[in-house]
Amino acid sequence: MRLLLLNPRFPESFWSFRFAMEEIVPGKRTLNPPLGLATLAALCPDNWQVSIVDENVESIPLDPDVDLIGVCGMGVQFPRQRELLAYYRARGYSVVAGGSYASLCPEKYESLADATVAGEAEYIWPAFCRDFEAGCAQPLYRETGTVALTDSPTPRFDLLKLHLYNTASMQFSRGCPYMCDFCDIIVMFGRRPRTKSVDQIGLELDALRARGARQVFFVDDNLIGNRAQAKLLLRYLADYQTRHDYRFGFGTEASLNLAQDEELMDLMRKANFGWVFIGIETPDAAALKLTRKTQNMSTDILGALHRIYAHGIDVLAGFIVGFDTDTLETFERQRRFILDSGIQAAMVGLLTALPRTPLYERLQREGRLLERADDSDNTRPGTNIVPKNMDYDAMVDGYQKLYKSLLSNFGIAHRIRSKMRWMRAPVYRGEHGTRERLRILARLLVKGILPGGPLRWIAFVSTLPPSPRQFPAVVADWITGLSMRKFVQRRFDASAGVLASTDRRAHRLIRALAPYRHEGSVGFVWGKVPRHLEISLTERLDSRFFRRVAPRLERMLRDGHATLALRIETLRAQNLPSVHALLARIARHGDRVSVIVPEAWRGRLQVDSSVFRLVLAPPAG
Ligand code: SF4
Repeated sequence: MRLLLLNPRFPESFWSFRFAMEEIVPGKRTLNPPLGLATLAALCPDNWQVSIVDENVESIPLDPDVDLIGVCGMGVQFPRQRELLAYYRARGYSVVAGGSYASLCPEKYESLADATVAGEAEYIWPAFCRDFEAGCAQPLYRETGTVALTDSPTPRFDLLKLHLYNTASMQFSRGCPYMCDFCDIIVMFGRRPRTKSVDQIGLELDALRARGARQVFFVDDNLIGNRAQAKLLLRYLADYQTRHDYRFGFGTEASLNLAQDEELMDLMRKANFGWVFIGIETPDAAALKLTRKTQNMSTDILGALHRIYAHGIDVLAGFIVGFDTDTLETFERQRRFILDSGIQAAMVGLLTALPRTPLYERLQREGRLLERADDSDNTRPGTNIVPKNMDYDAMVDGYQKLYKSLLSNFGIAHRIRSKMRWMRAPVYRGEHGTRERLRILARLLVKGILPGGPLRWIAFVSTLPPSPRQFPAVVADWITGLSMRKFVQRRFDASAGVLASTDRRAHRLIRALAPYRHEGSVGFVWGKVPRHLEISLTERLDSRFFRRVAPRLERMLRDGHATLALRIETLRAQNLPSVHALLARIARHGDRVSVIVPEAWRGRLQVDSSVFRLVLAPPAG
């Protein structure tokens, strides 16, 4: 049996860190590999041939030589997951769906896949494999019991192209003892944390070590959900690191009460945890109480962060605006708090109600869900809830302004200074040897600091730390801040000047296209809300056309406010190099370019679906 497992591409978000990936650490394509698929692969029967394709780092195969295709996905990947399932199914492949979104709402997959695997896979995936081989697969495999993580195998890391990711991933525990009402983790994994054994972790580390990994993200939603087990793990990791020359740098997610346990923080430092992601959500006690995040109420949050910094551990954090107690004034309170907290990777989202969470059910009862809105992506300027004390548009506007302010030159610098006052000896010392570190610094200066002009130079100089030990952490924060700033500029900055520039460039392009439309070799439609250009190309074009149009297309896309659909209607073989050159020219903006290729040319016209949105099927509905 030959099985292909696919991870659909993510839309660009703050988590893409595109500036970092493209300009500072070239060669890396995205942050983390699809650990769930590597685990699924390890759960397959021994005689199955399994391959994994992650569309975030490589193009999908259009006609794979396999018997079964599995497509996973989180909520944010659902549109692409749905498209991939439809494409392969229409070609006669058997398709099976899974992942966290299918676990939350398997009913959405009823008509999309031959089978859906909902919930933790350790027991139900082997059952599905057996049934599939016997030709009697059921439409739904749902885990309703509890999986013992000691039954979870070492993931097939050998099937992942680990060198293309910034950080390798592994998992120690599932479940979290808390009960935040917006959280889907406890809906999926429950409130009693379950863990692997440290021997399992040792085997996984050995496997990652053999594959050259150095940075590892423990994807646990709360690594310290069971503190006694977490301490066992950390002692084991510290010992492993001393035996292996402190080979790995670790990061993870944890609840804020980490700061109340000196021993825990000490062990994390000893095990070489350089950072931890914490759900802070809001400094407002009333909102924390309402959302049942009571574990954050029993502590002074800034003081807690300072204690974590004092152990050299950096903090990344999630923040939410849109709770029922929030008003438009909340944005300013969040802004002040985030600046003082020193958290550079501050992921602010508008409150979003995820299916099956208590929040979702409450808002549904109150008639405050925007049923048709997207509930799958909380990093976009929009949400699926009706806020209580704010006008929806004013809330979205406040959200965008908050980000712009945080990511101003001085917003980035202020946070670095706030943090470095407390983080005197960061665990993080840079991931590379001296030569590569110097290269990274040079790229940051040339690509990030110098183009920002005198204000950014001053801001940068103001963050130069007293101790050289702090310098790698300062550089990392500038890379993080500038990556997020560039995303915000591309996606949120709809100032009149930027839009006018996009329009000017679009009109220049349209003027260049007009004679070709007149002779019938090109068609195009320009829509202004949103700014979108659709161009249809025919076989009557010559290479001169592509040379003229490519730079103008690239300039139109550069501002970040236009999207493009490139529809290849008909094609001649001699135009293939020109089309490939055109695609190469606009590849940098590929996330905003859809490419539609006729069936007959799909094999010969190479469109990398990890770069462009290769349209496979008409959008549903
Ligand atoms: S602490 Fe985090 S993982 Fe745990 S319930 Fe709250 S949001 Fe979910």
